[in-house]
Amino acid sequence: MEEETLVLVKPDGVQKNIIGEVVSRFERSGLRVTGLKMVKPTEDQLESHYVLAPEWVSGLAQKTRESFAKKGIELKETDMQIAKRVQTWLKQSLGSGLIVAMVIRGNCAVEIVRKLVGSTEPRSAAAGTIRGDFSVDSYDLADVEKRSVKNVIHASSSVDEAKREIAVWFQRVIYY
Ligand code: ADP
Repeated sequence: MEEETLVLVKPDGVQKNIIGEVVSRFERSGLRVTGLKMVKPTEDQLESHYVLAPEWVSGLAQKTRESFAKKGIELKETDMQIAKRVQTWLKQSLGSGLIVAMVIRGNCAVEIVRKLVGSTEPRSAAAGTIRGDFSVDSYDLADVEKRSVKNVIHASSSVDEAKREIAVWFQRVIYY
């Protein structure tokens, strides 16, 4: 099914000079870039992008717990406490510099973009994925340094999330 998804190259990705590389990875897969711009996020955009939707809270907490459990550490916080802590850090880091927002379109775009992007934590993101190739961070280091995981890119995780997120960054109608 033809779909649209939202990708953000986060400030750490922009600083690493990989905007072109990221665009090229999506293009060479056959997906199309149908919207693209560089922006300095406003407070409003940060607020609306990182909302505490129940499925985001539980997914984020689960991934974080699993990663710490592998190291024998049990997190005592509730799911909501983990998500709120990460949300604050994420707003700080996404708001810390310029980002590139893009809309990617094509068959199964949401799933294919997430596959090319790789898993959330760079330490376990597969080689050949954008996060696996261009970042080396981990949850535990981010935790010690009290910041979000630097994984160079964001990609919507469902068609509904993509619709909501595209509206945060692109106010105009997108023409194909
Ligand atoms: P994804 O970006 O892969 O969809 P999530 O939506 O679960 O992952 O998390 C959003 C972002 O929050 C991640 O890309 C990462 O930068 C950051 N993050 C997630 N969990 C943590 C954590 N436990 N500590 C610090 N940062 C985190």
